[in-house]
Amino acid sequence: MCGIVGYIGYQLAKDIILDGLKKLEYRGYDSSGISIIFEKGKLETIRKVGKLKNLENELKNLNLNGNIGIGHTRWATHGKPSEINAHPHTDESGKLVIVHNGIIENYMSLKNELKSKYEFKSDTDTEVIAHLIMDNYKGDLYQAVKLALRRIEGTYALVVMHADNTDYIIATKNSSPLIIGLGENENFVASDIPAILNHTRDIIYLDDQDIAIVYKDKIDLFNKEGNKVSKNISKISWSISAAEKGGFEHFMLKEIYEQPFSITQSLAGRVSEVEGKIYIEDLNLKIEDLNNINRIVILACGTSYYAGIVGKYYLENILKIPTDVDYSSEFRYRNPVIDNKTLVIAISQSGETADTLAAIKLANSLGAKTLGILNVIGSAISRETIGNIYIHCGPEIGVASTKAFTSTLTCLYLFALYFAQEKKMINSDYIREKISNLKHVPKLIEKIFSPNSIKNIKNISNKLANFKDCLYLGRNYNYPIALEGALKLKEISYIHAEGYPAGEMKHGPIALIDKNTPVIAICTESSTYDKVFSNIKEVKARDALTITIATEGDLNLATEVDYIINVQKLVKRFHLL
Ligand code: GLU
Repeated sequence: MCGIVGYIGYQLAKDIILDGLKKLEYRGYDSSGISIIFEKGKLETIRKVGKLKNLENELKNLNLNGNIGIGHTRWATHGKPSEINAHPHTDESGKLVIVHNGIIENYMSLKNELKSKYEFKSDTDTEVIAHLIMDNYKGDLYQAVKLALRRIEGTYALVVMHADNTDYIIATKNSSPLIIGLGENENFVASDIPAILNHTRDIIYLDDQDIAIVYKDKIDLFNKEGNKVSKNISKISWSISAAEKGGFEHFMLKEIYEQPFSITQSLAGRVSEVEGKIYIEDLNLKIEDLNNINRIVILACGTSYYAGIVGKYYLENILKIPTDVDYSSEFRYRNPVIDNKTLVIAISQSGETADTLAAIKLANSLGAKTLGILNVIGSAISRETIGNIYIHCGPEIGVASTKAFTSTLTCLYLFALYFAQEKKMINSDYIREKISNLKHVPKLIEKIFSPNSIKNIKNISNKLANFKDCLYLGRNYNYPIALEGALKLKEISYIHAEGYPAGEMKHGPIALIDKNTPVIAICTESSTYDKVFSNIKEVKARDALTITIATEGDLNLATEVDYIINVQKLVKRFHLL
């Protein structure tokens, strides 16, 4: 999910790769590494935790002159940030090196199969790929990669290099981005365009499961069927700063569009539709622990707090365990009632939120079982909790959280299912159905990004832009979503907004509703649909502009409200639960 740069040509590979990795630094990372073939049969690998500067300083002391190499900045998903876990990873001979972005879903079963033959040095999912390729290697690297890929399930951008081979490097991808940059007597591979814009603007986008053999003066490209193909060369006109944002106006927009992928990553390796089973690694809670829990407390701030309220509804609906959601900044300064039968869940994208860190320390001191739902492996909160569920949404640069919110919801839902599964409260058929629904979510989100839907949303935004106040309403699951919507509007548009449970509207806020206060009501098909519908009528009676988020095909609402934003129905029944 972070940075990859590969180079083959006539210049010093380490300079090109380091420069490329620097251009990807904006994405955030926890460690970095580089491998250079400095003479046929010989390569050197340097890996460092922390800033790229550490790698750069080490490289200064080495006379590493080679024209072929690969480099990586890591955003840990499996195994904490450490030198051993940093990429490139190598096979046992030390001659094959790989860099990888993404998640290998079946790495545990592959590791179990390969560990009797090869010594594993890291905790990463990535290392299995190195051993698997060498397990298939009979002198032809392309064939070995091709055979290895047949066994791999998951997402990857992968670059492979072998010390005995100074003619080419191999690049391939599945779901994670990877491009090839074309030069004069030199070629580049990168996970993102800014890494190579200083050298070339001619780019080939790889399709999923393409394998590219990248020579310095040509590219041989094979599609997933193994047929040789040729691809169009795209000319990139973006500046480096536009390229960083993938052509989007700002990072937040880019991250909004990343959600189908980030949710897929949150599910990766954790759901088996065939078995009807949820797997959550690193939880460190035994069945005795789970059976002992009689109360759950979720601690969080801001957007994570609202995700926590949705989590409460999931947990109470599925597990029937009373669940409270508390602001970390309140919890830490009170005398909260917590004991060893309480499970305390800290939610934080960065894993460094100061109030949540202090709150989880307090929960620990009171004897609670503690769990983190976090994005950053090895972060401060992850070191305090008994177990952690990583949301795997990749680096979030936008200050206002978007993709981390939906990935957190995904993980909270998975956790509720997992907990119920371990306690044998639900059977595999039930879980299978939920998994099938979950896997469908990314496709439905994509529909919201269709040109017509975006045009409609832009039009509504233009209408809203000149108002000073705005009210968001929702009930049940859509109540915390209304709170999150209001928070986003405040943070991003500087328009005052309040989120309310729609049923509370008549107990105060109604006094403020008039033609100057637009109301955004979330009124999707659900058990509270009729109730929200009535609230919308009350709003209309006060001449407020009404904008409704509705289930596609809802003709009743369409005639009632001023504007509609449609979302797709996931299942025929009312809700995900
Ligand atoms: N899953 C790999 C790891 O944890 C790749 C991480 C990345 O995408 O940066 O090492």
